[in-house]
Amino acid sequence: MPYGKKNPFPSPILRSYDLNTSGSEKETYHVELSLEGSGLEYVVGDALGVFPRNPEEQVDEILSGLPFSGNEEVPLPNGGEASLREALITAYDIRSLTPKFLKAWQERSGSPHLRSVVESEDRKVMNDFCWGREVIDLVTDYPADFANEEDFVSVLKRLQPRLYSISSSPNAHPGEVHLTIVIVRYHSHGRQRGGVCSTFFSDRADGIQPGVFVHHNKAFQLVEDNDAPIIMVGPGTGIAPFRAFLEERKLRGAKGNNWLFFGNPYRKTDFLYEEQFTSLQKEGLLSRFDLAFSRDQAEKIYVQHRMEEKGQEIWSWLEDGATLYVCGDATRMARDVDATLHGIVEKHGGRSEEEAKDFVKALKKEKRYQRDVY
Ligand SMILES: Cc1cc2nc3c(=O)[nH]c(=O)nc-3n(C[C@H](O)[C@H](O)[C@H](O)COP(=O)(O)OP(=O)(O)OC[C@H]3O[C@@H](n4cnc5c(N)ncnc54)[C@H](O)[C@@H]3O)c2cc1C
Repeated sequence: MPYGKKNPFPSPILRSYDLNTSGSEKETYHVELSLEGSGLEYVVGDALGVFPRNPEEQVDEILSGLPFSGNEEVPLPNGGEASLREALITAYDIRSLTPKFLKAWQERSGSPHLRSVVESEDRKVMNDFCWGREVIDLVTDYPADFANEEDFVSVLKRLQPRLYSISSSPNAHPGEVHLTIVIVRYHSHGRQRGGVCSTFFSDRADGIQPGVFVHHNKAFQLVEDNDAPIIMVGPGTGIAPFRAFLEERKLRGAKGNNWLFFGNPYRKTDFLYEEQFTSLQKEGLLSRFDLAFSRDQAEKIYVQHRMEEKGQEIWSWLEDGATLYVCGDATRMARDVDATLHGIVEKHGGRSEEEAKDFVKALKKEKRYQRDVY
């Protein structure tokens, strides 16, 4: 069976290091994995799916609150069996709480408080309860009686793979795939917590070959035309596919102009891939490079502010056939960048609000406005 989502390739981790420097509030890992011998192929713009592992200490803490040793055999979500401990590390989700899970837990715990959450008609009560809590919180705060180990795993969801935009060109790094991962850590309900997959790479990947697969992204592809200009907007980990695009354009000897907007909190500690991008700028491959370090001055400056400042030139690049790519945070950044784009079309393209909407729609249809946002 070829390697893919159903049969992930156990990929050796070649290198992994923090791109933020000492004193940063963020941790962003550059991770290089081997695809040697996997038969997996990708193009720039694609994403890599990764099957993470839960932290062993957290699994042991859960087991210590349950009447199971961890050695019991349990069914795996994909078929087959494993010990309960192994299944909790590799196959079941022990983080996210769902209404279905909570209901099943309530039935086995008899907790009046959980009953009030589960039975509330206000969805917010359920969402507020689940936010920032994990399975361990139920084990410690709402003890439940499970008929047996199989009953326990039957209420859990399967552990899902996470997707990461690929930050390498396969032609620049044959047999390898690179990722740019921001580590998720936060404090809630009296505990320090972490995202499963991101902290897997930072805290517990030593000696482990995570299962990976390629997720082709038809909606985010580098233009074939090597003479066409491109504008890339990628703050934070949004930079990932643009490192790949630029590596690829360099190898292709593409003559089209490349313009990159990057942002993060502080220049001193958070300028990801600074050496690589500044040398691409010196070489002339990166024709324009605009930076927005939001906290280096009193007022916050984000990529959309830099775009606004350069609105006239962005408009003339678009008139020259540029494709605009946006990658990164979907909730705020992508929305603000989209609003800024509409504003630029109105102001510098002399369009009404309605006409600007039509213009942007047409750009999307022509695949000249592509987004990889999450
Ligand atoms: C197409 C695509 C491309 C992506 N590319 C990248 C990329 O290049 N780089 C990258 O870093 N990520 C990328 N992501 C996101 C990535 O897939 C993961 O979602 C991310 O790494 C978090 O996964 P995790 O397993 O570490 O965290 P999870 O275990 O999934 O935990 C995240 C969850 O923790 C909870 N949470 C987070 N903060 C708090 C808080 N303060 N309080 C309470 N609860 C909180 C929220 O429920 C949140 O959904 C991409 C996603 C998609 C879909």
